[in-house]
Amino acid sequence: MKILTLVLGLYQTNCYIVYNEKKEAFIVDPASDFSLIEKTLISHGLDLKFAILTHAHGDHIGALNDLLEVYPVPVYMHRDEVKALKNERISLSGLMGVSLPQDLKAFILVDDGEEVDFSGSKLKFIHCPGHTPGGMSIYMKPFMFTGDTIFYRSIGRTDFPGGDYEKIISSCEKIVSYPEDTILLPGHGMRTQASEEKALNPFLNQS
Ligand SMILES: [Zn+2]
Repeated sequence: MKILTLVLGLYQTNCYIVYNEKKEAFIVDPASDFSLIEKTLISHGLDLKFAILTHAHGDHIGALNDLLEVYPVPVYMHRDEVKALKNERISLSGLMGVSLPQDLKAFILVDDGEEVDFSGSKLKFIHCPGHTPGGMSIYMKPFMFTGDTIFYRSIGRTDFPGGDYEKIISSCEKIVSYPEDTILLPGHGMRTQASEEKALNPFLNQS
């Protein structure tokens, strides 16, 4: 399994393109700059199977409409994020000049613990509210895509609509309870590891 990281847009959002030896791929957070996403898919000869949104903030979905026009794939998102996806204020997309999808026909709404198969690999969706109500992480052993819930030695903001500090702390605790060697791939900034954040993340070590 290979993971490409594209850092996209004004907010330097991490967009991940994951693919296997058969060149089948999925994308996590088509954040911005569809032309670069498309170029990357084409240059690697990838067959995009689906997209996943960790949450619906404008800086994570900026290329979604363009992506769906060219690649009409299903989009997995947590059920509790629908409200944000329909609202420019909640999704901060108005502020960021991003247009929301016109309809949800491409969407597959998921719940905590649901799994999908990616060509023999198991992906598990983990509800991680706190940054947004329907934030989710995606676990694909040994990787976890964490969106804006946990970052290297930090956590996501909770001062946006629907944010909740207590909830983000429990979500982060849930993430670091996964196997120690789980590699955390956040929505912004550098990757980290579950064991490291468990020991060193200042937000998780307040007694
Ligand atoms: Zn966000």
